[in-house]
Amino acid sequence: MESVVGKHYKDKSPILIEFMDGYIQKISPFSGKATSGILGPGFVDLQVNGFNGFDFNEEGLSPAKVVKLTKDLWKEGVTTYFPTLITNDKEKIHTSIKCIVKACEDSLIEDSIGGIHLEGPFLSKKDGPRGAHPKNYIQAPNWELFCQWQDTAQGRIKLITISPEWSESSKFIEKCVASGVKVAIGHTAATGEQITEAVKAGASMSTHLGNATHLSLPRHSNYIWDQLANERLWCSLIADGFHLPESILKVFLKVKKGQSLLVSDSTKFAGLPPGVYNSHIGGEIELTKGGRLQMRNAPKMLAGSAKTLRWCIEHLVRNELTSLENSLEMCTLKPAEVMELGTLGFERNKKADLILFEYSNGNLKILKTIKSGKVVYEDQQLDN
Ligand SMILES: [Zn+2]
Repeated sequence: MESVVGKHYKDKSPILIEFMDGYIQKISPFSGKATSGILGPGFVDLQVNGFNGFDFNEEGLSPAKVVKLTKDLWKEGVTTYFPTLITNDKEKIHTSIKCIVKACEDSLIEDSIGGIHLEGPFLSKKDGPRGAHPKNYIQAPNWELFCQWQDTAQGRIKLITISPEWSESSKFIEKCVASGVKVAIGHTAATGEQITEAVKAGASMSTHLGNATHLSLPRHSNYIWDQLANERLWCSLIADGFHLPESILKVFLKVKKGQSLLVSDSTKFAGLPPGVYNSHIGGEIELTKGGRLQMRNAPKMLAGSAKTLRWCIEHLVRNELTSLENSLEMCTLKPAEVMELGTLGFERNKKADLILFEYSNGNLKILKTIKSGKVVYEDQQLDN
């Protein structure tokens, strides 16, 4: 039996977590030497395009890069994540999937990849909703094409973001859901009716609500209100401080109380130092000292996210938008709940996917990451 000691993330009482064969056996009060670290479940990120120099959508991806990326995410406290493949050439998507599948030959990597998130190509072609997705590959939902990718993925595609503005949407969503794939609405210019139909067909989440939209929307009838008003839709939010202003985050969190979760939507630039870089989505981009990733020639336009979930928690807590406990759950238990990842949780018989961290002066520092009962990251300064 192995164990870890820390303060419970909810009430900060000292606890001892014992685990064996990768699963939590017991969580009990601890009366020994006090420890400063807080213990919580490991982060679950449903949207990771890349991190620390590597991107799943880039040419030259290799299984070794997928492994490296996974290990780098462990250092950030991420124990489960969904590599996110965006709209691209059909064969390039196959190639990326193959690299991910090959990397999964290592059981700890396989354990860390909750599934593939396919964000595209069945999205809106309209400028604004489309975001940075290349227009020439965007198309109507195509079940046969999806099945070809799913075959290559050996069933690993577990989440797909689509826009329900295509007439083929409802049937496609029904087939996805019947095959065990969750469907999210995103990059959309759908009408209220189309959103309602999509939810009836089984769509269960809004992807990064409030982003990838037109700059101006009709004040009453628009797809943000329609998604917010639908009680059956969860919403994922990019709370990095750049994608959504605090007032919107506050409103979304209130309306979607208990049904919100955080995603990083991180790109390969997350984890890199500030500077000017070339991006595979076209053109030069700049990562500012403050952490904003923007187009170099049009600095008002974001070029994706350069932050991980750790930073998003800091942003929410620092701005008093929610508590540390809540924001932590929005990065851990909530995404696990919406994806029905039944083996994850912070209780007996759930996977020993744990983080020990410090939170002080608005900074969250990972001290230790445990994945399936194995210590996969330990901060050098940690003395206990
Ligand atoms: Zn997106």
